Amino acid sequence: MTASTTRSSDDTEPTPHPVSGGPIVQLPTAFGDFVAQAWTDHVTGVEHLAVSSPNPPKDGQAPLVRLHSECLTGDVFGSYRCDCGEQLAFALELIHAEGGTLLYLRGQEGRGIGLANKIKAYALQEAGFDTVEANEQLGLPVDARSYSAAGQILAEMGLHEVRLLSNNPDKQNRLAQAGVSVVEMVPTEVPSREQNLRYLQTKKDRMDHRLTLETESVGNGKTPSRSPFDNEQD
Ligand SMILES: [Zn+2]
Repeated sequence: MTASTTRSSDDTEPTPHPVSGGPIVQLPTAFGDFVAQAWTDHVTGVEHLAVSSPNPPKDGQAPLVRLHSECLTGDVFGSYRCDCGEQLAFALELIHAEGGTLLYLRGQEGRGIGLANKIKAYALQEAGFDTVEANEQLGLPVDARSYSAAGQILAEMGLHEVRLLSNNPDKQNRLAQAGVSVVEMVPTEVPSREQNLRYLQTKKDRMDHRLTLETESVGNGKTPSRSPFDNEQD
């Protein structure tokens, strides 16, 4: 439980981030049957969950990996202010089909600023600021997330080479620092919607996310049949 093992005197030899995994259990879900394993980050005390397909990837491919940052409003309530809930469903379906692991990273709400601050940022967005400006107004970092625990968990799960389900090139760099090699970036774009278009545009323009943002209607070429997501994570 000491943080001393996480500090290195220089950055040439990163020391492992201390994590420990519990038992692996069956997890039948609406997206199919998975296995799940809880992991504890011994620096922060935060508990994460690895949800994996029961079968290995076909044809010796590297496993798909999604690092999914917790988003209560999107994941649980299906908020249309962001795309997290749809990203989560998309990732679980693909991982179930192709083999891999979704690492659900708790304590990363609102790109690491916490739930209450995320809601404050929403209030500022309603006053006209974009998602980056809102965090700046609150004196908070645009992205406060760390992936060192995630990288260590993947390494201890034996996932040293992965196909990363993400549009965020920064995640690839962070994982490389943790010794996990990303052999392919697999895009996760889900359709943009009226409510989230400005948010997604900000992620593309200001956070270097790889999004095309073709405004295809989700319905029949008219107005979107439902209007999920727009804001906060990934
Ligand atoms: Zn979200």
